Amino acid sequence: MDDGPNIDGFVCGTCGKFHPELPMDFAVDTPYPYLVIPVEERKSRRYLTSDVCVIDGKEFHIRGCLEIPVIDGPRPFAWGIWVSLSEKSFKQVIELWDYNGRETEPPYFGWLCTRLPLYSDTGILKTHVHLRPFNKRPLIELEPTDHPLAIEQRNGITMARVREIAAALLHRGIADGPNHLA
Ligand SMILES: [Zn+2]
Repeated sequence: MDDGPNIDGFVCGTCGKFHPELPMDFAVDTPYPYLVIPVEERKSRRYLTSDVCVIDGKEFHIRGCLEIPVIDGPRPFAWGIWVSLSEKSFKQVIELWDYNGRETEPPYFGWLCTRLPLYSDTGILKTHVHLRPFNKRPLIELEPTDHPLAIEQRNGITMARVREIAAALLHRGIADGPNHLA
């Protein structure tokens, strides 16, 4: 996402007004299992950074980019989401964190751990987690199922769909500003 997160504005299908920027990605700050921990217990039960989240020392999550090709767009659309890894995989990923060439490692298995709006049951999707070169978050590839999100990742979407996603999210009270899902 070297070109900045947003591109030209769009006339919104929800409010009918012109929004000056069209987000090409939306991200979530924490994995879903973190969000279900009572607020007062969160601090003591987790280790959390912008890239990793460990709960109770035994649930391991990393953040990645679930990219969706945009057929008529300048670059892919991306969901900034979280996946869970086995302890073994997680330790390997941490060991490789600063390793130049980590992108040559085979992918890791992970469960999608983000409940994306607009899609049902994203908490039951299997993924492959591909490490990418330094400073790039892992690329999350869904298993090729018939889930609508997997179909979109496989076949790509159009800019019209990107505008539709933005129009829905920006008005549901779940995006507290462009690019960020509360
Ligand atoms: Zn609008």
